[in-house]
Amino acid sequence: MSETRTDLQRQYDTLRARNLGLDLTRGKPSPEQLDLSNALLSLPGEHDYRDASGTDLRNYGGADGLTELREIFAELLAVPVAQLLALGNASLAVMHDSVVDALLHGVPGGSGPWRDVQDLAFLCPVPGYDRHFSICESLGIRMIPVPFVNGRLDLDTIARLVAEDPAIRGMWCVPMYSNPTGLVYTVEEVEALVGMPTAAPDFRLFWDNAYAVHHLTDDEPPVIDVLGAAATAGHPDRPLVFASTSKITLPGAGVAFLGGSADNIAWFRRHSAAQTIGPDKINQLRHVRLLKSADGVRRHMRAHRAIVEPRFAAVLAILERRLTGVATWSRPAGGYFISLDVAPGTAAAAIALAKEAGIAVTPAGSTWPHRNDLVDSNIRIAPTFPSIEELEAAIDALCTCVLLASAVD
Ligand code: PMP
Repeated sequence: MSETRTDLQRQYDTLRARNLGLDLTRGKPSPEQLDLSNALLSLPGEHDYRDASGTDLRNYGGADGLTELREIFAELLAVPVAQLLALGNASLAVMHDSVVDALLHGVPGGSGPWRDVQDLAFLCPVPGYDRHFSICESLGIRMIPVPFVNGRLDLDTIARLVAEDPAIRGMWCVPMYSNPTGLVYTVEEVEALVGMPTAAPDFRLFWDNAYAVHHLTDDEPPVIDVLGAAATAGHPDRPLVFASTSKITLPGAGVAFLGGSADNIAWFRRHSAAQTIGPDKINQLRHVRLLKSADGVRRHMRAHRAIVEPRFAAVLAILERRLTGVATWSRPAGGYFISLDVAPGTAAAAIALAKEAGIAVTPAGSTWPHRNDLVDSNIRIAPTFPSIEELEAAIDALCTCVLLASAVD
């Protein structure tokens, strides 16, 4: 049943009067999810500070990170242990450092610092992750948005652009449960990305596998071995693999990882040696004690799923009921987001209406470089943090705003 503009205006006025004060902005775990890792607050314990080889982890050193933790995540991320570093608390910082190192020093296989490249550019599949775009923005890197086509990477455009333009040195990729669309790259897509000819010999895929183990269904696709595929294709240095435990354990108090070819790892190690004497190995030990093994991580993630899945289901049910025929949205099998596409030209207005009614939604355009959604259509929904009741109220209210923003008199 379609609602008239007058009905919608009345619903909206009621909403505004309630001033809900709800927040759908950031993909944060809920308190129940954080509780799953509460043991970290007391681990490893007063007398537990040695690694398996007996090294005292209280002291400096061990720049590559704790071997036991790297072994667990090597299996989960499909990266050889020797090519996987366990670092600080945030993968975003590792991405930022990698781009800065490339700008200042260049990368293996390149012909000099990227800062010397005229019109240096990164490809940005859109809608994408705003903080990737912020790295480029803050470092003055041109961003070329490449919209998904029917929800998939536009490989023809990507291949054409990198073949033509030697200034394109990077591309942001979230290969599993992309933020925000939930897209999972296929083997064929991964092979195309690692194999495509590029005008720049030192082109890099910034392979952000933030959601590699964040499944929401029984179908748990294995992580694709992007480093192996790249080596087979003759471009072993192309992918830089990033990940973290931010949404496995505690965001901000987790462990970040970097994977890459032996040359890329040596390159990163060399530059980070000027920056730090080593990572927080006690935090890494804490994580080993909590998670224990790759299977331990898988079990832990199923406990997350039990909390998160009903929230996604609640959002999808409301979208289905209220926006069928008016908007389209992703039905992700994992990750942290639902991507909602409303009528072109109405997303910013819908978000502004929601804000007026006390519902904070990620700002209009956030999923595009420079916050400039050229279609003004995409809204990122983060269902994990609010309680189900709050979430249902917020999504129902957002639907009213979407409908009102696109209603014609
Ligand atoms: N990458 C993606 C795709 C993300 O969605 C997020 C967090 N929302 C991050 C990276 C941030 O990771 P970290 O906490 O390790 O910096």
